[in-house]
Amino acid sequence: MRILKDVEMKEYSHMKVGGTAKELIFIEDRNEFKEVLSTRDRVYFLGNGTNTLIDDGYLDISFISLKNFQNITVEEKTDEYDLVRVEAGLDLDDLIDYMEKNDYTGLENITGIPGSVGGLVNMNGGAYGTEIFDCIEEVEICDSEGEIRKLKKSELTFKYRTTEIKEKKWIVVSALFKFKRGFDKECAEDKRNQRETKHPLDYPNLGSTFKNPEGTFAAQLISDAGLKEYRVGDAQVAFKHPNFIINLGNAKFSDVMEVIAHVKKVVSEKFNINLETEIIILKNN
Ligand SMILES: Cc1cc2nc3c(=O)[nH]c(=O)nc-3n(C[C@H](O)[C@H](O)[C@H](O)COP(=O)(O)OP(=O)(O)OC[C@H]3O[C@@H](n4cnc5c(N)ncnc54)[C@H](O)[C@@H]3O)c2cc1C
Repeated sequence: MRILKDVEMKEYSHMKVGGTAKELIFIEDRNEFKEVLSTRDRVYFLGNGTNTLIDDGYLDISFISLKNFQNITVEEKTDEYDLVRVEAGLDLDDLIDYMEKNDYTGLENITGIPGSVGGLVNMNGGAYGTEIFDCIEEVEICDSEGEIRKLKKSELTFKYRTTEIKEKKWIVVSALFKFKRGFDKECAEDKRNQRETKHPLDYPNLGSTFKNPEGTFAAQLISDAGLKEYRVGDAQVAFKHPNFIINLGNAKFSDVMEVIAHVKKVVSEKFNINLETEIIILKNN
């Protein structure tokens, strides 16, 4: 494993917010999980940092990265579909490129989500009616004791933006996907273009801040509450997509938290709906 000490976590968060971490460990081999987990008090598994808001100040946390886990292996080929194992550290974008090259279909709708496969499986990420679990057959997890095992999809519970893996704080090591043939290039390009048009990608952000409440959209509620461009310090509700909070330059953790608290309060007062955060908020104590 490779260990970096006193790491500026800002560099590893898509929001460009965060303090100095005790250490950042890049695991290189499956055998290292046990050692790391048995010798550290507080760990946080970081993917691409596209959904994690990190506190400022000193973080007495061992951040762990699976960035070295990027393999893709075809485990079974049939006339109808292939079973493909993908390691957790791979970027979703790289998986989509691989699917295009190999003419696999199933995940075109989620093209452009900037997360890692591990991050997406952990929270059952998705978009435009597709969730990553739609194509999953099995997940290889590591538990808090460092034991690695494979669980069939039928042995796991998962729903909108959450899974048993997340609730039990397991680590996603790899996932086995079932891909049929017929990559839909037009759909993938359309979804990528829609993201570029609709999302405020010019500024650091974490995607959707809040989960969509049943039957409605968080962005719509925030917009209807008149909160577009509401700002604290350098954290601002995006005009282009009001469920995004953007970092205009030097946003602090507390700025973002204040914006979140204000949005929740106003939406609750106006519509009697409690918005639930989709992003992960990592505090230093
Ligand atoms: C511009 C933009 C657009 C986005 N659009 C969408 C969208 O359309 N749909 C959507 O669902 N999300 C979207 N997101 C949010 C984000 O990309 C996803 O939630 C993604 O799943 C997070 O992956 P990550 O690797 O960046 O996770 P991180 O932010 O690094 O981590 C998020 C959570 O996953 C956990 N985690 C990371 N890796 C592992 C692992 N190997 N095993 C277990 N747990 C792990 C972390 O501990 C943490 O709890 C968007 C984000 C941005 C910035």
